[in-house]
Amino acid sequence: MPVANLNSHIAAAVRLFRVPADNPDLMRAQFGAFSKQMPLLYFILMSNTIAVAYTYVNLAPDWLTIIVPTVLTMLAALRTFWWLRQRHLVRSDADILRNLRSTNWMTLPIGAGFTAWSFALYPYGDPFAKSQVAFYMAVTVIGCIFSLMHLRSAALIVTLIVDVPYVLFFWATGEPTLRAIAINNLLVSGAMVTVLFIYYRDFADLVASRKSLLAQQAATQALSDENFRLANLDSLTELPNRRRFFAELSSAFADAERRHVRVAVGIIDLDGFKPINDNYGHSVGDRVLIEAGQRIREVCEGFGPQRVEFARLGGDEFGLVVCGDPEDMDLMRLGERIGDQVKLPYQLDNAHTGLSCSIGFALFPDSATTPETLYECADYSLYHAKRHLRGRTVIFSGELEAEIRSRGVIETLLRTADFDTEMDLVFQPIVEAVSEHTAGFEVLARWRSSRLGLVSPADFIPAAERIGLIRPLTQSLLGRALATARTWPDDIRLSFNLSAHDVCAAGGILPLISIIEKSGVPPRRIDFEITETAVTFDFARAQESIATLKAMGCGISLDDFGTGYSSLSHVHRLPLDKIKVDRSFVADINDNPVSHKIIKSLAGLCDDMEIACVAEGVETRAQLDSLRRLGCNFIQGYYFAKPMPASAIGDYLAKERQRLDGAGAKVVA
Ligand code: C2E
Ligand code: CA
Ligand code: CA
Repeated sequence: MPVANLNSHIAAAVRLFRVPADNPDLMRAQFGAFSKQMPLLYFILMSNTIAVAYTYVNLAPDWLTIIVPTVLTMLAALRTFWWLRQRHLVRSDADILRNLRSTNWMTLPIGAGFTAWSFALYPYGDPFAKSQVAFYMAVTVIGCIFSLMHLRSAALIVTLIVDVPYVLFFWATGEPTLRAIAINNLLVSGAMVTVLFIYYRDFADLVASRKSLLAQQAATQALSDENFRLANLDSLTELPNRRRFFAELSSAFADAERRHVRVAVGIIDLDGFKPINDNYGHSVGDRVLIEAGQRIREVCEGFGPQRVEFARLGGDEFGLVVCGDPEDMDLMRLGERIGDQVKLPYQLDNAHTGLSCSIGFALFPDSATTPETLYECADYSLYHAKRHLRGRTVIFSGELEAEIRSRGVIETLLRTADFDTEMDLVFQPIVEAVSEHTAGFEVLARWRSSRLGLVSPADFIPAAERIGLIRPLTQSLLGRALATARTWPDDIRLSFNLSAHDVCAAGGILPLISIIEKSGVPPRRIDFEITETAVTFDFARAQESIATLKAMGCGISLDDFGTGYSSLSHVHRLPLDKIKVDRSFVADINDNPVSHKIIKSLAGLCDDMEIACVAEGVETRAQLDSLRRLGCNFIQGYYFAKPMPASAIGDYLAKERQRLDGAGAKVVA
């Protein structure tokens, strides 16, 4: 055998007696199994030792039968306690390795000690006692090999340190029985060592396969965690998504129900986002959404003492779940902080975004008893905020609940209403700002319901839109308005309001054209008023309808300007004749510098575009004077006249002529 080969065999043999450090998982498993078995090993050792010592008490000197066994037993007892304690300790890999190694080498002195003691005792015994020593040693070593199964090196050391001297010693006695026991022990130990090798290999394999199984499980878990994360994440903003929001809502709701505390749902809608998307493109729009989402998230994370969950619901809509028994005051505070953050400027290619947000909240248990209805209530609060309190926070209340109920009633009754008899028309003059001549009348609808009495168009027009009855209603109203306008002097125009559905539905405009043609009123005397919101609903369709009406000769007015997501691009891209400044600006023209400024720039814009500027809702002389100074061309409002029935128009015009003639006569005189 070459020397190198021999050396490697020796190295391999030496390795068998050492604790390998390269497999921490195996080490941990060994230590775990071991700490359970070691107390057992020491129990075997101690009880067997006491039995042998007892047998020799009257035969051998005291130091051999009392002192040495007591010391050995006490050492064994100490080790037992040490191992019992190990079961509850958490140890590092290095610690475990150190302990296994010291256990390994400790088998050497312990094995040698007990062997030496046994041999020292032997000469004092009679034949029975002598064979008891042989039996004690054989049984104990087998018990030790068995208990040390998980630490192969230690088992081998014990085998070697006990069995080699054992066989030599008893063989040397020349006693056939003892020689037979020695051979017997050698064979059994050999078999035990073989079993030990097989068992140890299986044990190591088991640990390795358990490790790979755990790794596999961990990988599967990580994958499913990632899938879960992605399924619950909005891909654009990386915020929790709609699915996550509703999961969060139902668990928060269940929790609040169980603990009898309040929980709130909030829905946030960005005001003025659509024009950003339309005017600056989707990539800018996306960046605004991400930034706004990030800001709202920061507010939510920094909010306390309530916990706020935040998600993107889709489009420019976000959701909130406020846990931890919030009060109305807390919700208003949260809404205000979010609003303040959303309003701050955005760094977007220097584009001015002018974004704000409206928020609707609803509270459990005050407003709803299920998560679904709670969400619907919050949605209604948001709708209310968008319509009446843009950019503000609205909490669902008894008032809104009554409103929903009346909305339902209006819708039901409107379905069975006879438009031709229940709908009245009233007319409000639109007056030239400088000459104060009536240039035309805007027709406004009135519903005299037999059940509800007089219902405002602000309520029944949206209801008709919701239930899909607006188009027949518009047709009925237009036919009758034109019939009235036909009786007026030739220079008096008619302004007629169209809803979004009239201008945006496919073919929506065609029935109106035939009504105009049949009416005998020349189209050049008709103005159609279209709100900005109607235009933004479906810009391309609206543009088409407007172009058709325009081609017939009708005028087009952009109504309620300044309230919607107005963008000037709409104004430029539509063939408009007039812009009607919303009455909310007119109302505080003399008190609010912002309103004053807006009307001023609008009048300037109209002037540049060579279209007329109409101010509506003018109630006072002071407002009229300011509007004139700013260059508004037409005035409409209670200052001149409230909407009147068709029958009052003749009188009104006659009085006006008298008044103006009188003024003219005075000037001439
Ligand atoms: P609008 O088109 O902006 O109509 C002007 C509204 O302002 C009318 O309310 C009118 O009565 C009111 N108003 C006029 N002068 C003054 C004033 O000096 N002060 C104040 N505070 N208000 C004034 P009304 O009749 O309640 O109509 C509300 C809205 O309903 C209208 O707003 C219009 O959008 C819609 N609407 C009315 N009639 C029709 C219609 O026949 N078809 C459609 N599609 N919508 C209509
Ligand atoms: Ca109008
Ligand atoms: Ca208006």
